[in-house]
Amino acid sequence: MHYDAAETLSRSEIEALQLSRLRDTLARAAHSPFYGALFARHHITPDTLHSLDDVRRIPFTAKQDLRDSYPDKLLALPVGEMVRMHASSGTTGTPTAIYHTREDLDWWASLMARCMHMVGLRPTDVFQNMSGYGLFTGGLGIHYGAEKLGCLTIPAGAGNSQRQIKLLMDFKVTGIHIIPSYAMHLANVLREMGIDPRSLPVRIALVGAEPYTEETRGRLEELFDMKVYNSYGLSEMNGPGVAFECQEQRGMHLWEDAYLAEIVDPDTGEPVPDGELGELVMTTLGRRGMPVVRYRTRDMTRFLPGPCPCGREHRRIDRLHGRCDDMMIVKGVNIYPMQIERVLMALPEVGQNYLIVLDNDGAMDRIKVQVEVRAEHFAEDTRVLTALQKKIASRLRDEILVTPKVELVEHNTLPRSEGKAKRVVDNRPR
Ligand code: AMP
Ligand code: ZN
Repeated sequence: MHYDAAETLSRSEIEALQLSRLRDTLARAAHSPFYGALFARHHITPDTLHSLDDVRRIPFTAKQDLRDSYPDKLLALPVGEMVRMHASSGTTGTPTAIYHTREDLDWWASLMARCMHMVGLRPTDVFQNMSGYGLFTGGLGIHYGAEKLGCLTIPAGAGNSQRQIKLLMDFKVTGIHIIPSYAMHLANVLREMGIDPRSLPVRIALVGAEPYTEETRGRLEELFDMKVYNSYGLSEMNGPGVAFECQEQRGMHLWEDAYLAEIVDPDTGEPVPDGELGELVMTTLGRRGMPVVRYRTRDMTRFLPGPCPCGREHRRIDRLHGRCDDMMIVKGVNIYPMQIERVLMALPEVGQNYLIVLDNDGAMDRIKVQVEVRAEHFAEDTRVLTALQKKIASRLRDEILVTPKVELVEHNTLPRSEGKAKRVVDNRPR
């Protein structure tokens, strides 16, 4: 029933394992130029840790530290022992490079296989990975997990919907990995081709790499007649396989034998009370080539209280609320794009894509939301459309407390990127 023994550890076993692995991690990390210097400055050794709480005595590692250490100042072993390098998808500034030894890759693939097994995939499944390969970890990361589990694995890569659809049908694909914005698009393409997405043999989808809402999950499950499981990871912590939903679909189990997770107030760095929203901070507990300690992910989530009915005792994190840097301040109000998505995707008239545009007319912030309307509704007369526009504006107002301008557009007209969706265009002067 379980993929490996670590999955069924009890809380006390998990915590004991974490403490010993954290000590090993500190000892290993000290060999890297970056942590060697940091630990020396702060007098940190494995003996600093008497309990897991002592981890707070170690300074955080920020994205900027990884950039400053580019390309190799975080390596804890000679570069000759590394067999792969990935880089994060950051669009601005210096990238961050993450190295893996052969052992590290094996460990990562096992974590990934554990996730896939947990949601019901088996060696008899045919699995199509529709995310970009290359430096992006959603390609090779998921790929090696699927192969490790024993699925026939199709490295389809991103984009080229016609070919994706042909592969899905010709090879009777039962499991897929896809990012949410692309899954929505693929449903449109299928419909245009006269194929009912529900007629495909796909039964399980791993969906992640970007934030999406419960409403979007519901839509995708309905559109494709498949189960959608949330998949969370980031390059700095390997990539996918960090936290994953079980079949209960109530939050993602974060694999605590592999990662030490904390949730802190993004402004003060202090731990938030259990169950409250904050920034996820993580430490690798198994990586040898390039350990990362107390990494500030910028991702906002919370620990879900209480045990999961599935029996696994690895704590669960809530669906990601987005990154702290995604938060928009409009007329002094804090808004996350996911609040907007939640409202839009709950409305049946709304199509699959939207875009938030911010402007400032010199005196005041303005927020505009462009919304694709489903083909069958766009044809309606203007009175109906005006009513819809008003309805969306007022629902959004209730959620975000400012009234946006709502612009209805025809379906499939908003820009789409091949990778992660860009949901916000901020034209305000800085
Ligand atoms: P990268 O390292 O470039 O693959 O990007 C990792 C980032 O993608 C994370 O830090 C999150 O911000 C985002 N991300 C990945 N998976 C999810 C998910 N399931 N839900 C929300 N955001 C996600
Ligand atoms: Zn569970």
